[in-house]
Amino acid sequence: MKAHLQQEYIKHYGKEASATYFSPGRVNLIGEHIDYNGGLVMPCAITFGSYLLVSPNNDQVFRFKSLNFSEQAEVPLQAEHKKIGEVWYNYPVGVITHFINDGKNLQGLDMLFYGDIPIGSGLSSSASIEVVTAFALNDLFNAGYSKLDLVKLSQSVENKFIGVNCGIMDQFAVAFGEKDKALMLNCDTLDYQAVDSNLGNYLLAIINTNKPRKLAESKYNERVQECQTALAALKQQLDINYLCDIDTETFEQHKHLITDATVQARAAHVVAENDRVKLAAKALSNNNLAEFGRLMYASHQSLRELYEVSGVELDTVVDYSKTNPNVAGARMTGAGFGGCAIALVKKEAFDTFSEEVTAYYSNKIGYAPSVYASLIGDGVGMLNEVMSGE
Ligand code: ADP
Ligand code: MG
Repeated sequence: MKAHLQQEYIKHYGKEASATYFSPGRVNLIGEHIDYNGGLVMPCAITFGSYLLVSPNNDQVFRFKSLNFSEQAEVPLQAEHKKIGEVWYNYPVGVITHFINDGKNLQGLDMLFYGDIPIGSGLSSSASIEVVTAFALNDLFNAGYSKLDLVKLSQSVENKFIGVNCGIMDQFAVAFGEKDKALMLNCDTLDYQAVDSNLGNYLLAIINTNKPRKLAESKYNERVQECQTALAALKQQLDINYLCDIDTETFEQHKHLITDATVQARAAHVVAENDRVKLAAKALSNNNLAEFGRLMYASHQSLRELYEVSGVELDTVVDYSKTNPNVAGARMTGAGFGGCAIALVKKEAFDTFSEEVTAYYSNKIGYAPSVYASLIGDGVGMLNEVMSGE
């Protein structure tokens, strides 16, 4: 794979890349739709991601090429950098612009990107490409940013330069991810704990429903609003800042304050999901994958019935998973309404799982999902093997 990328680099730039960087994609293992309620999320880096091969040039230009997209570009170092339509290289240009605006001294670069993450499926190829670019620039030009600076800078690029209003979880996970660790993270305080998550003889199956996530944004805003309504109602009697400041027991005692049944159901999900994250961290660090799997199914059911952000495609994947004894648990991951589901599947049973879920899903939905086998991988870094170009 990497030797092949060096070949591509030579073909395009007529010289070898002097360095290669890698940044993963991510999945959220559990803790869905609670980051904006002061809750805990639990993402991990996956073993798919984005590669950046690069070498400096003396031409005062940034050259952009991606093996995943046809557009390529050459942008002068001194130019005023603005977002150009929807082209992919807005992401690295945004990162470069951030460095320049911070007064960092850059030099021209010849860059080649390649991603083996499914793009636009909720596995955060966008955070991956931002963070790999930021990490590489920081390293090549000794810009002196900490890893957390790079995370914040990348999020700011996505929010302000690209114009996508994402939280910090994605950039955080792809930067701070560690092999066999899940990151239990509070997205407000950025307090986090790396939780030992040895999957043993299981792997993480990622099932892309291949359904465009059309509804996600409007429904997301609706849920944020509903959570604010629930919080305001509870505040009549409770001194809290977020729904996740209370546990299930306290919620049960006070839920009557929320008069709208739908809004009450939304809050019930939020509070219980936050409790589940804490239980999941315990289960994972105790190697209790059966319990973790149970929590995954419970999370999905809550997102489906109480929070109503699933859909027939994601439900079909989870419904099938429940019939397969080699699956410990499964759930939708990400905002919902499409995108990906994850399942904890015995390694030796993955091929059968993949075939069966594909058949079951295709039969019900009318088109096939894409199924990937992943492990919990490392966060962003430089790949230090010398790439021979062979
Ligand atoms: P997601 O983050 O869920 O994968 P987004 O729509 O947020 O989806 O981000 C996808 C965009 O990120 C792509 O359309 C492209 O502009 C950029 N991108 C991701 N990976 C690559 C890559 N390997 N090469 C070039 N651009 C990429
Ligand atoms: Mg994205």
